[in-house]
Amino acid sequence: MPAKVNIIGAGIFGLSLAVSLKQRGYDVVVFDKNDYSLDEYRNFEVQAASVDQNKIFRASYGKKVHYQRLAMEARDKWEALGNDLFVPSGMLRVQPTDELGNLELETISNMERDGLRDKIFVKGDQQDAARATQQGWDAKLFSFPMPEEPAREFAEVLDTTAGFTRSSAACHHFYKWARELGVEFVFGGEKGAFDSLIKLQTSDGRKKVAGVVTQDGVEHSADTTVIAAGSFSHSLVPDLSYHIESSAGSVARFKIDPSQIELWEKYSPAKFPVITWKKAKRDAAGKDVGSVYVFPRTEEGIIKIGYRGVKYTHFQPAPSEVAYSQEGQWSTPAGPELKPPQIALDAIREFVSIFLPEFKGVPYYSTKFCWYTDSLDNEFVIDYVPTYADNSLFVCTGGSGHGAKFLPVLGEHAADIFMNQEDAKTPLRNFWRWRSDAPRKNGLEEGPDGPRNLAKGVSL
Ligand SMILES: Cc1cc2nc3c(=O)[nH]c(=O)nc-3n(C[C@H](O)[C@H](O)[C@H](O)COP(=O)(O)OP(=O)(O)OC[C@H]3O[C@@H](n4cnc5c(N)ncnc54)[C@H](O)[C@@H]3O)c2cc1C
Repeated sequence: MPAKVNIIGAGIFGLSLAVSLKQRGYDVVVFDKNDYSLDEYRNFEVQAASVDQNKIFRASYGKKVHYQRLAMEARDKWEALGNDLFVPSGMLRVQPTDELGNLELETISNMERDGLRDKIFVKGDQQDAARATQQGWDAKLFSFPMPEEPAREFAEVLDTTAGFTRSSAACHHFYKWARELGVEFVFGGEKGAFDSLIKLQTSDGRKKVAGVVTQDGVEHSADTTVIAAGSFSHSLVPDLSYHIESSAGSVARFKIDPSQIELWEKYSPAKFPVITWKKAKRDAAGKDVGSVYVFPRTEEGIIKIGYRGVKYTHFQPAPSEVAYSQEGQWSTPAGPELKPPQIALDAIREFVSIFLPEFKGVPYYSTKFCWYTDSLDNEFVIDYVPTYADNSLFVCTGGSGHGAKFLPVLGEHAADIFMNQEDAKTPLRNFWRWRSDAPRKNGLEEGPDGPRNLAKGVSL
């Protein structure tokens, strides 16, 4: 009998792993509290980061060459998937000033090392300008004047390896594919929602997970249970509380109509790249302060803008049994009724006034929070939980705001770790391992007294 695996969470991490494990002969059942079979991943109000019109695809990772390479591996797979799931619109990385920042210089140097330099165009570089014209990219090398005097333009790099993925459509594609392969899905309501782990004791007195109980009270036994519940993962398995924390990214949308012919054309993926702007240089601690990004319009006319300069925490009392808490609290997602604070919407407005001037003063069509699963060092967390015996509990989470682009390859690397652990061939093994000895960084050191805690009133 093939080993049975329960996966909790049918977002990008759960789906990608489900496909790869099924292809390797496992008997896989995926549970999710949302019923994606009904809405095809198109209810953008659900709290799942993967359920979204679009996500940035980029291979630009500064010094983190392992992600640059994983992204290029994923890019080939996205192209092979077809169906317009990946749109190579290019991405214009606008710098905080009229000079290229350190992260950009590191990215250029690492892309050059991997033979990708001819795919990127530095604004103002004459050779790059000529190449951009030859390759038909020159029209996307926009100029944006800096608001301050004296008159200068922001420095920019147009990266043509980048673009965006149609995240919800891609999830639906993977869901259908997984079903065709024979993965079973238990979706929606109490029958799909996780309630608890079935815990046993082994003969040598260790804890072991024997499956899950769903909220309808049904027990589902399995050899291994995988937690891939995104920003809810540590609420389900508190052993994860040292490794991850939920934080909120602020998102605002405009909507345009095909009858607005000029705007419809200008903001189409054919004419408009993804634009990211770092408002200010990274601070002394290396933290990004003030990033905003915008996507080309969707087929429905949605122009989505995201602010990730401040990721807001939401500290709540943690259950007493959690492995790690800060002043007895942990950050978990708030309900969908909580909307981005004015300070974040103002940051988006500033971006709009420079980069989307036609929308200055236009009311947002909608705003919302989208919940990140931040890990202590921005690396994913994909490994067995060592507190449980017999490889009975595995986690596949910690997307940290950059996991969506890896959908077509993430499961392959995760399955390698799942099957081979220390003997895994993937170069990601060490980055993604269970690491309770690693220092808590990436904002996770801040705790409930930090300035970005929504539960206390934010000052950033
Ligand atoms: C604002 C924002 C912007 C981002 N932008 C990018 C980007 O541009 N590019 C990029 O590559 N990545 C981006 N990311 C990251 C990317 O979206 C995530 O890494 C990825 O979607 C995480 O997938 P996941 O499967 O771990 O989590 P999720 O998508 O959250 O899926 C988790 C699933 O678990 C289910 N679940 C939760 N609790 C339970 C329960 N109790 N019972 C049953 N099911 C449950 C949920 O319903 C959900 O379907 C961004 C993330 C955010 C928040």
